[in-house]
Amino acid sequence: MRKKVLIIYSGGTIGMVETDRGYAPKADYFFHELKQIPDLNSDEMPLWDMVEFTPLLDSSNIAVNEWNRIGKMIYENYDKYDGFVVLHGTDTMAYTASAISFMLENLDKPVIFTGSQIPLCKLRSDAEDNLITSVMIAGEGIVREVCLYFGGKLMRGCSCIKASADGLVAFDSPNMDILADAGISIDYREPVYYKKKPEKPLKYIEFRQSMIGVIKIFPGIQFRLFESIMTDSLKGIVLETFGTGNIPEYDDDLLPIVRKAFENGTIVVVCSQCQQGTVRLGAYETSSRLAKAGAVSGWNMTTEAAVAKLYYLLSKDLSISEIKVLMEENLRGELTENPMAVHS
Ligand code: ASP
Repeated sequence: MRKKVLIIYSGGTIGMVETDRGYAPKADYFFHELKQIPDLNSDEMPLWDMVEFTPLLDSSNIAVNEWNRIGKMIYENYDKYDGFVVLHGTDTMAYTASAISFMLENLDKPVIFTGSQIPLCKLRSDAEDNLITSVMIAGEGIVREVCLYFGGKLMRGCSCIKASADGLVAFDSPNMDILADAGISIDYREPVYYKKKPEKPLKYIEFRQSMIGVIKIFPGIQFRLFESIMTDSLKGIVLETFGTGNIPEYDDDLLPIVRKAFENGTIVVVCSQCQQGTVRLGAYETSSRLAKAGAVSGWNMTTEAAVAKLYYLLSKDLSISEIKVLMEENLRGELTENPMAVHS
């Protein structure tokens, strides 16, 4: 029997058209375009339906509400389809893919995010391959998690980043092996994080609009500038630190601020500005102070995944200490807890 895939079209370059204000999405247009693509409608492909967001969005405008809409659509249609493809703008796709990875607990079907750098309607568009391959992968059901397919690579949704603003291989998964290469055939690789069949049914966790921040450390940073945001409304903050989790020592204001965050119950997560490798708090004097002040390690998690994971855990009625423990644990393949495993 032919497999069935639901395409959720949220917007993005893939379905945009040229307007006098630059590329913009156009309502009620893309479905008819997809119907004209012979390969997508071939008998060898899964059957597909499409739901379209109103309004269609540039992904710069996608945040918690839209994540909830996407998650809920998958949850409500879960039994009707074998897999799901989410068409999304590339700019924030890595954030949304991370968010949906956490939001859908006990997921046992493929959810494949994709889009394109060149709109479907333009010459040399990368839309057709990204879309057709994603629908095939969603129908095959070999990967049963949230993934991102782009430019010939299938990656885990919560471990990738947008690495190129204009290349057609726009995404990378710098710290986790890719899940499949799509060359002449789709070559699935042994997953790094083997997914057991979930024992419980799918659960959808609606995200709350928690106040979260990200601070990128840079040489010369004056931490006192950030003191005013460290109130008890700030529920979580990701520090993008140097190397393995280091912060400058020349500014004495940071640690009192982190301590204040700690007293306020703000979760401080330490990630690295480096794309590869992992945070190891305490490896240097410049990072041990962060651990002592109450920060938790994001290990080799991307900032995108750390932000999404904070939203997720803050939506689950957990205590602060439970959130801190879970932040450092591997929930969906978003991090490797043992740093040596990253380097071996
Ligand atoms: N600005 C667009 C978006 O993220 C870029 C893209 O889709 O490639 O919606």
